[in-house]
Amino acid sequence: MRYLITGAAGFLGTHLASRLLADGHEVIGLDNFHSGAEANISRLRLDSKFQFVQHDVVIPYDIPCEVVCNLACPASPPYYQRDPIYTAKIAFLGTLHALENAERYRAKVLQASTSEIYGDPLVHPQPEDYLGNVNPIGVRSCYDEGKRIGETLCADFTRLGRVDARLVRIFNTYGPYMRADDGRVVTNFIAQVLRGQALTLYGAGKQTRSFCYADDLIEGFIRMLAHPTNPGPINLGNPHEFTMLQLAEEVQRIAGTALPLKFEPLPEDDPRQRQPDISKARRLLGWEPQVPLAAGLVKTIEYFKALPRA
Ligand code: NAD
Ligand code: UDP
Repeated sequence: MRYLITGAAGFLGTHLASRLLADGHEVIGLDNFHSGAEANISRLRLDSKFQFVQHDVVIPYDIPCEVVCNLACPASPPYYQRDPIYTAKIAFLGTLHALENAERYRAKVLQASTSEIYGDPLVHPQPEDYLGNVNPIGVRSCYDEGKRIGETLCADFTRLGRVDARLVRIFNTYGPYMRADDGRVVTNFIAQVLRGQALTLYGAGKQTRSFCYADDLIEGFIRMLAHPTNPGPINLGNPHEFTMLQLAEEVQRIAGTALPLKFEPLPEDDPRQRQPDISKARRLLGWEPQVPLAAGLVKTIEYFKALPRA
């Protein structure tokens, strides 16, 4: 099969491309390095079944393929808030162009949606039929609302019979190939322990997230694409929920450090809690995460330690 991955130079794009190449597929990676890393593409280029196209998804493209995995979009809050209008364009136009390219070649689409479509959830844990609590005009809205219109486009193309577009709602995922400077909590804490710096906790550190290791998530993508019919949106994430204080303790325990904590203001609209209800993924895809937080953190810390200037 010939897969097109938009956002291939990013964290998840690199994992997905590696997995598909290992499974014997051809992969075309498309990226403009807005938030990804050229080093990730250099690694993928070692496989002759990988091709790279440098392109911005807000501009239409025409690339023959059998599956489009639409991952292009900055995912870290500091990155996507840096140029919010561009983020909204990527989420809307990037998804439209992925769907149009797929329609041209009768390709299936895997759309990287997000738990952010639930906003600051009032229902806990979040099942797929929860419609969310999203601020349409806040600092996170460019991403949250962008991803919501992305889902709308996928649902309408699917309803109209133009494309089979499958929605995965990804909850916080971490692992190797993230950028050390990407600003998300796992990479911040790891970079801080490796540099011997205080760990930055936003607010009181009592907000929760549920962290999924990258390999588990990618297995969910593969099962979603292999499902005989389009099952509608599916949450993919690890249901084990931790406060940011607990995460800081766990990173320090594994790294063997006892650095101070530095409390900083809570960013605007920061969701207080987040935990996926994965019963639909369990039932329809036979999927659930296998890698506990501690084991995933060990692998991630090893990766960052091995980088030249971690
Ligand atoms: P990432 O920032 O590491 O990767 C995104 C990639 O998209 C980067 O390589 C970037 O350069 C590329 N990109 C951005 N704008 C582009 C544009 N205009 N044209 C071409 N390429 C562009 O993020 P990630 O964590 O790998 O996330 C991948 C996808 O998964 C995103 O769509 C994100 O919204 C979604 N997601 C990720 C998480 C997570 O926890 N990692 C959670 C929910 C959803
Ligand atoms: N966070 C933190 N310290 C950091 C970076 C983030 O306490 O150095 C918090 C952040 O406020 C949020 C949680 O960690 O509550 C997860 O943040 P991240 O940016 O990784 O993802 P998202 O908010 O999109 O879930």
